[in-house]
Order: sequence, then C-alpha cells, then structure tokens
Amino acid sequence: MADGNAPSIPGLPSGVEEGSVFRSLFAAYPDSLLVVDQSGRIVLANPSAAAMLGYAADELVGLSVEALVPDSIRPRHAAFREAYGRAPRPRPMGTDMELVAKRKDGSEVMVEIALSPLQNQGLPFVVAAIRDIGAYPRVKQALQRARYSEHLAQLGRLAVDTRDLQVVLAQVPDIVATALQVEVAMVWLLDGSQREFRLASGVGLVADESVGLRIANRPDTQPGYVLSQGCPVVVTDYREERRFTVPPAYLEAGLVSALAVPLSDRGRVTGMLSVRATAARRFGDEEIRFLESVASLLATSLQRVQTEEALNHAQRLESVGQLTGGIAHDFNNLLTIIQGNLQVLEELPQLAADGYAQQLVAAAARASRRGAELTGKLLAFSRRQMLQPDAVDVRQMLHSLTDMLRRTLDQRIQIEIDADDPCPAVRADPGQLESALLNIAINARDAMPEGGRLHFRAEACDALPATVRQELSDADAGRRFVALSIADSGTGMTDAVMEHLFEPFFTTKEAGRGTGLGLSTVYGFVKQSRGAIAIDSKLNAGTTVTLYLPQVEADAASAATPADEEPMEIEAEATLAPGLRVMLVEDDAEVRQVVHTFLTTLGCEVATAANAEQALPAMAAEATPFDLLLSDIALGPGMRGTRLAAEAVQRQPRLAVLLMSGFSAELLDADREAPPGWELLRKPYSRSELARAMARALLNVASY
Ligand code: ADP
Ligand code: MG
Repeated sequence: MADGNAPSIPGLPSGVEEGSVFRSLFAAYPDSLLVVDQSGRIVLANPSAAAMLGYAADELVGLSVEALVPDSIRPRHAAFREAYGRAPRPRPMGTDMELVAKRKDGSEVMVEIALSPLQNQGLPFVVAAIRDIGAYPRVKQALQRARYSEHLAQLGRLAVDTRDLQVVLAQVPDIVATALQVEVAMVWLLDGSQREFRLASGVGLVADESVGLRIANRPDTQPGYVLSQGCPVVVTDYREERRFTVPPAYLEAGLVSALAVPLSDRGRVTGMLSVRATAARRFGDEEIRFLESVASLLATSLQRVQTEEALNHAQRLESVGQLTGGIAHDFNNLLTIIQGNLQVLEELPQLAADGYAQQLVAAAARASRRGAELTGKLLAFSRRQMLQPDAVDVRQMLHSLTDMLRRTLDQRIQIEIDADDPCPAVRADPGQLESALLNIAINARDAMPEGGRLHFRAEACDALPATVRQELSDADAGRRFVALSIADSGTGMTDAVMEHLFEPFFTTKEAGRGTGLGLSTVYGFVKQSRGAIAIDSKLNAGTTVTLYLPQVEADAASAATPADEEPMEIEAEATLAPGLRVMLVEDDAEVRQVVHTFLTTLGCEVATAANAEQALPAMAAEATPFDLLLSDIALGPGMRGTRLAAEAVQRQPRLAVLLMSGFSAELLDADREAPPGWELLRKPYSRSELARAMARALLNVASY
C-alpha cells in the first residue's frame, strides 16, 4: 500500500489535491448520497440528496434516516436496518423496485437505493445512494396501471355492494373521470328497441346535455358510430373529426380529444361509455383497456339487475298464478253446485209451467255461465287451461282477423298487415291464439280513441332478443320462433303500468270497461304454449306487443298427424241404460249432492263416498259390481281419484271410469297418466254433458 503522499488516482494532474476531487465528486454526484453511522444518523449528505428530499443543504446532517422513511413502512425498515447492521454487505440498485422515501413536506418519492458498507475501509459508516425513479416511463406506467386497478377495484366493490343500479350508474362517470384525469365522462344506454340512446349518467356535461337526454341511434352520432364499429373509438381532435357529426357545443366547450368504448351484453351492444378531454390527449392502450374493463363491469351489473328484475317479475306472476288457479278451482266447485241446482230447479214439475220462475232460473243460469267464463280466464292466466295445440298458419289467421276488425273497429283506425310469405306455421291452440290477438287489438283500439294505426306483423325469427330469451328454459330458447307483433300508435304506457300489465285484474280503464284479464290470459296462454311475450311502449307514442311462438318442427310438420278417430256423436242422455250402477266419489258434500241428483234423474242407481278410502271397501262389499266409477281427481288429503280408479280397475277390469275436476291442469296430468279408456270431465258441467261423458266411458269398456 502506498504511503499517504503517493497519489491514489493514477494520472491525477499535479497540483490537484486528491481530497478536493473526492469532495467535488460527492457534491456533483447526480444521485443522492447519504453517509450514515451505525446508529442510523446521517453524517454527510450531498446537494442532490437535499434537493430530492426537499431539505436545505445542512438540514439533513444529524437527522436519523428514519425521518426519510414513510410511516407505513417504518417498522419494517427498523428491522431491516438492524439486520443489515449485523451483516452489512453491498446491495446494488434495482434489487427492490418499490421503495419510497418521504420528503420533508411529507410527500413521497419513488426511489431505488444502493447500500455500500464502508467497514472494509475501516470506517463505521454505510453509504446510501438514492435515485429518484418516479420520472422513469416504466415506473410512470406502473403507477398509472396501479391507479387504474385501484379505481376498477373501487367500482367492483360498489357494483357488488349496492343492489341499486342507479347508484352504480351515477358513480361510474366520477370514477372514470378521476382515474383518466379527464373533464367529461358519461354512460349512454341503448333502449330495448335499439332506436335511441339515453344519457344515463355523466360528469362535466356540456351546456345542452343532461342526464335523461335521448338521441337517435344513427351512425352519424358518436354513440351510433361506436355501436356500428363495435370496438373502442379514439378521437384525437374533435375539430378534425369526419367519421360522425360533432355537436358544436363540444367545440365551444373547448373539448379536443375523446375515447369511447361500447357496452355489451352477451355479444349485443347495449350502450357506450365515453370520456372527453380539453387537452389533446393521447388515449393509449392502457386507457382503452381501463375503460373496457369498466364497461364490462358495468355491463355485468346491468345484466345482473335486469335478470333479477325479470326473475322477481316472473316469480310474482307465478305466485299470483298459483293463487288465482286455486281460487278458480274452488269457484268451479261452487259453480257446479249452483248450475246443478238451477238445472234441477228448472225441471221441477211445480216450476215447469211457471213462466216467471223459469225466467228467474234462466237469469241465474246465465250469470253462472259468465262466472264459468271468468274462472276459465283465471285458469288461462295460471297456465292451467286445456289447450289443443295445432299447426297454425298465422298469415292466414291475421288476414281473417284483420278482415273482421276492419268491419268492426272505428274507421279512423287504419289496419295494416305485414307477414312473411310464406311464414312458418306455429304450434299453438288456434282458438286461444285468435282470442289473444283479439284481446291485444282491443287494447290497441282503447289506446287510440281518436283513431290511429294498427299494424300486424308476422315474421320468422331465428334469434330471440336477450330479454325474451332469458324468460324461456334453455330447451325452449333453442327452438325457432315466429314473432307476431301488433303495434299501435296510441297513448302508450308509463313504466308503472308496464310493471303490472300481466297481473290479473290490473286495469287502468274505468269500471265496466276493463276487467284486467286481457293481457294476463294472453300471458298465460303464450307461456303455456312455450313461447314468450314482449311489450315495448312509449308514452304518447304507441305500444308494440310481440308474441314469440314456437314454429312447428320440420319433422312434426311433415309427419301426418293421425286423424283423430271421429268423435262418436252420442245423443244426450238417451244412450244410458236405465238402472246403471254408479259409484260416485266426491269430497265436497254439496257437489256430491248435485251430481247425485243428476245421476238419479238420469235413471242411475247411485252409491256415494267422500273419499277413496271409503269407496274401495264399499265397492268390494257390493255383491253386484258397479258399472261406472265417477270420481273427482282431488279428494282431500287421501288417495287421489286417479289412484283410486287404478286400484278399482285392477280389481274389476270391466269398470268404466270417468274422472272430473275443476282444475284443467289436473285433467291434463290425468290425461297423460291415465289409460286411454278413461274419460275426463271438466267442472262445472251440465247434466247432459255428464251423461255424454258417462256414455263415452261405458263405450270405451265395451269396445275392449
Ligand atoms: P283491460 O284491457 O281490461 O284493462 P288488459 O290486461 O288487457 O286489461 O290490459 C291491462 C292494462 O294495460 C290496460 O288497462 C291498459 O292500461 C294497459 N294497456 C294494455 N294494452 C295497451 C295498449 N296497447 N296501449 C296502452 N295501454 C295498454
Ligand atoms: Mg284488455
């Protein structure tokens, strides 16, 4: 080792003192340099360190390094320094990117730090070289990315926590504007018909824009253009924008650049998210990716809320359906009693010649028939009516319906028809379909008291709109449909009316004009036909009701349906042999009484039971077998009518079976389960209907 006089720096010009070179080097060094003693005290700091950390030149000396460590990481830092003190070794730059130093004013700066122990040089110090890396592009990018993720996470939490879509919608522009540091941010949503965009929320809007604003969906508007592109659109300068029309208000507000991304739900565009800035900003991949992530998060919450709403709506209708179905069932029992007693009354010899009494009975009978029609509608709503689906040529049906409507509706209503030719046949009950269309047309008429336009349309439709699709089971949604729509130019409806439309008895019409059973029966019918219904309405502009009905499947259409064997025309009452032995099982005592009277006036010998458990032993005890079992299907808590019949027939194979119910669904189920020989009868029924059904049941046994 050279002695103190020999120059340590080779080639150092003579006269230049080595010490001054090192001092100058220390002072001019671009990174911050701190020399720290073993207790953590700063003994030397260069000007770069003072500048970077915001201290005056001499303030740093004597300070503990802890003062430069942000509070959040101070405990970790203390442990680190202690460990380092025990085994000091050089630590180069770049080994740990995410270090942060605290400035005198408390702000933070991103740094890289290298440590070199001077112990080897015999000095009890450590040199820390600190470099400000906050201005590095890669660091800037990482910081920005972190900020974007943090905002995304904030939005994600919000979307999960609040179930209120409006709250989420209202927050999105704020979050986006803050994250991207732009002046304007907004959400546009497309309406169901895809004809209009509505400004759902926004910040920094220009003078003539406000939440709720609607603009037409045309490709010469920014939202329309984005929709037509289906991908992010960057505007570098509104003044030179040629792809769509820029509203003058944008330029007046000094807006220059913009970025917009589409909102989409399962592949369909449902809106647009956009930002605008007064600066000439370059919206790069990071910004696009951020906005796209926000858009997909928003679309997901939109979709979730819509699904939940649809589900709630469907559940509410389902429970109302159950309730009304049950009521209709009970009513049918009551009507059976009323009608039956009236019929008996009508035939009483004491009244047969009394004109006034006959008049009273006839009026009561008419009213009870109207009651039966009403329960029929309730059953239709609760999807429990008996349907007889067939292939229907909707084109032809629309033509005959509109012919009839042209003759009957107000001349000021102009009726048009627009049907695919040919239009695939649908599978539905033709009578019910016609009455559904009539119901909808009558509603349209009521909505156009001063006249207007009624437009029928029928077209094959391979892809269902998303909102309709989710109403159907997967199996049904996969089929092909015909869309049958009826549009009017009438009053339209408020959202509040739309909400309750399908509920039975919901009407906005004055008493006597509306029953509120029109659309509810249409709804039940369409659902039971495995189709769907959609309503689009705008206040003061009109309403379009669209029925989606399944097309007749190709193979089913070509396969000739076996012609129903000619229903044997059975003359009322005459064909029943006198002295027919009937076992009548019915749990309702009054209904039992009425049917008993019917049977005895038909000349039958009748035994009765309230349930299956009574009926079976009673039948077994009888020496002469019964000819016919007439049983209700629902028999209270015990065995059902279908089971009873099965057991009875097992014991006595030649027993004729006739099952009855006020519940069409029960009849439908029974029809599916029952052997072909059994007959079914719907309550309420007249004596002659009973006689005909009994004759058919007896004939079935005779023909085996
Ligand atoms: P009703 O016709 O007996 O009132 P509906 O079930 O047929 O019962 O209709 C329920 C309600 O829906 C109506 O009272 C009316 O407020 C509204 N509505 C139905 N169709 C239309 C339509 N085409 N235009 C406007 N409102 C309608
Ligand atoms: Mg109606």
